[in-house]
Amino acid sequence: MNLRIPGPTPCPEEVLHAVGKQMINHRGPEFCELLTKITGQLKDLFQTKNDVFVLTCSGTGAMEAAVVNTLSPGDRVLGVSIGVFGERFAQIAETYGADVKRLDFEWGTAADPEAVRGALAADPAIKAVLVTHNETSTGVTNDLGALSRVVKEFGKLLLVDAISSIGSIDLPVDKWGCDVVVTGSQKGWMVPPGLAMVSVSAKAWDAYAAAKIPRFYMDFGKAKSYLEKGQTPWTPAVSIVYGLAVALDLMQAEGWTNIIARHGRLGAFTRSGVKGLGLSLYADEKYASNTVTAVNVPPGVDGKKLLRMMREEKGVVLSGGQSRLDGKIFRVGHLGYCHEPEIANVVETLREYLPKAKANS
Ligand SMILES: *Cc1c(COP(=O)(O)O)cnc(C)c1O
Repeated sequence: MNLRIPGPTPCPEEVLHAVGKQMINHRGPEFCELLTKITGQLKDLFQTKNDVFVLTCSGTGAMEAAVVNTLSPGDRVLGVSIGVFGERFAQIAETYGADVKRLDFEWGTAADPEAVRGALAADPAIKAVLVTHNETSTGVTNDLGALSRVVKEFGKLLLVDAISSIGSIDLPVDKWGCDVVVTGSQKGWMVPPGLAMVSVSAKAWDAYAAAKIPRFYMDFGKAKSYLEKGQTPWTPAVSIVYGLAVALDLMQAEGWTNIIARHGRLGAFTRSGVKGLGLSLYADEKYASNTVTAVNVPPGVDGKKLLRMMREEKGVVLSGGQSRLDGKIFRVGHLGYCHEPEIANVVETLREYLPKAKANS
């Protein structure tokens, strides 16, 4: 099977082997050693000196953690959205009583830093900004460096959904002043779903001290005090921690700049491959993502039938469009454990099946 969706992503054999290992005491010395080591490696990959925690939940759980640990009901928040996941971040904050001002951009485009500047200048009560680094639903990577400069100019708290970027696309957390950054194990980290990783800045800790939204399971303060003992507050997904430890060693061996460069090559290779078939990209190519490519379903082709035939007959698994993009686009994931041959296989399979997946036939 060629699983080319933007998560869960395929795992290397070594990782699959590791997640099948026997349990250990999560309050014992071996786990302490494991957690201490992976936390250090994660800090390197996040390019941060901030606290980094490993939470047992999916990425959305970590987005929720970012909100409940830093905000209070009634806080004014700017929700910058370029797609499904930007909207989700805003909804989470709203669910917990934040007063969310939405700044939505046309899907397929990136957020405009000048518009963010305008929104912040117009509304000094805004306390925090929610941003998606890589919008997986549209295949767009925001210029987070530029966005963060604007947010920091105004001294606001910056909460970043980097679930499908960090680990694959460069995100220097400290250089860009990102206060809370969240990601999930099943995206670029080559690990099964079950863990989320999050960084927390000093400014985020100040916000934490004042935040009034109730929190228990997701409490960063508890995560910090337990990490000092080499533990997590609650029973972690031990098997996935085993897998993450192996994946991080593999990532360290490949080297961070090589990983970013490989994703850059894979992104370009995927885009040129689908364009070579006469297909068009959904995303503004200037901001096209190096982890997921969104492709317009061409006229006369039934997108769902195309994906079904490729899956059933060739074992090539792509993602459809989410929400209002259902049936209009399909998406190719090229993050984590991915190399050119798997993408070449996707392109060749598309070449074969596009003519076979005619609409209304
Ligand atoms: C996958 C993804 C999520 C959701 O993560 P889950 O692990 O499914 O909860 C959120 N944001 C982005 C950008 C994603 O790619």
